[in-house]
Amino acid sequence: MASAAIPKAREIWVVDRSSWESALKKENVDPEYAKKVLEFHRLATLVFKNPENPTPSTKSVPQSPIEPELLAEEGPISFYYARNPRVSNHIWVVLNRPVDDLSEVTADEAVALRIGVNRIQKILKEQLSIPNAVILQRSHSIPLPGRYVVEIIPTHPDSPHVLDLHDKVECNNYVYRHSLSNQLPGPSREERAKEVAFWKELLAKTKSEPLVDLPPRPIQDWEQRQTRIDTGKLAVLNWIHETLAAQGVPVERIADPSVKFPVASLTEKKGCSFCRSDVIDSQKVLETEHSYLLVNYKSSMPGLQFLIIPKRHAPLSNELSEAETRDMHNLAQRLCRVLEEKTGSKNITMYQQDGPAVGQTTPHAHLHLRPKTASLLRFLFFSVNFDQERTMTKEEMRVVCEEFGKLLAQD
Ligand SMILES: [Zn+2]
Repeated sequence: MASAAIPKAREIWVVDRSSWESALKKENVDPEYAKKVLEFHRLATLVFKNPENPTPSTKSVPQSPIEPELLAEEGPISFYYARNPRVSNHIWVVLNRPVDDLSEVTADEAVALRIGVNRIQKILKEQLSIPNAVILQRSHSIPLPGRYVVEIIPTHPDSPHVLDLHDKVECNNYVYRHSLSNQLPGPSREERAKEVAFWKELLAKTKSEPLVDLPPRPIQDWEQRQTRIDTGKLAVLNWIHETLAAQGVPVERIADPSVKFPVASLTEKKGCSFCRSDVIDSQKVLETEHSYLLVNYKSSMPGLQFLIIPKRHAPLSNELSEAETRDMHNLAQRLCRVLEEKTGSKNITMYQQDGPAVGQTTPHAHLHLRPKTASLLRFLFFSVNFDQERTMTKEEMRVVCEEFGKLLAQD
């Protein structure tokens, strides 16, 4: 990636020191770290001032909730239009049998859910020309109490073919925190009503298809278009600014109009790291019949992250066979049990960025698993600083692989 052309400083932010520090500390961010991140990347220079007036209230008004709507019911699963959709055509595949969390979902049910997800993805692709979606599950904190939910979140229509850091960060915010920002507004009530009618009609007309065993695919590079990293950083900077303002920190922004961010995207070829034995050897925590559990050395959020991948080269998750789906489900359950015991977190997030348009960077299907959520501001500063701090060293990976390998072997 061309990161050589780092833009020069372009903004001065005038903030009240005490409200800046207290807002950051409340979200577990060291104010000095935040200041350094902004200055290191030459995004903004902070100037502190004493407020002459009391802090104005700039909290955003929460949207009224939009309830989920049943689209179709079919055997063990149902399809719903999501509550408070993040983007258009945000669909839930829901298990009909009441369960409280992932640990109760059987391998048969995991297969039924996968078949349902494939059906939605097929409609997205063939009927709506939406190529890729994020597939999201949680071990607990399921959005429909007592029913297990897999969410399908299509790429944002404004960036359907671009790995846009902004969309990725926004989507990750939804994935990790289940919260919506005002950056990418979801569909209006009118748009949603139209989409609900469309999905009801399509689901009544089409049928689910069983999972099939596909032969191993030859490894092929895929082409990825990517927004310039500087553009992504500016987008995140805008979001940090809005987030601070929403928390009652008055931030006066003095932009330098002489400096413009480039908006060009670049294209790169991505090979398959997950078919390389050196990558598997250095990141492997555990191996099962069809899958590997890996430690993720490049986290998109602060903290420990794992990946489950099929051994067979399958670029997208809709190519997974029934045996692979069962095996990956069982492995996910095992890791969740261990992570919950180890970290005390009762909220493991599992998601697939399924396709390059939603930020999948290795062309080999992989399920992300990570415990507990970080603060929004910590996440945003990490997103700007990710070149510097997201990569684990070989030694750090070895320690994690050993530790979790032992814990899983005992489970
Ligand atoms: Zn591969």
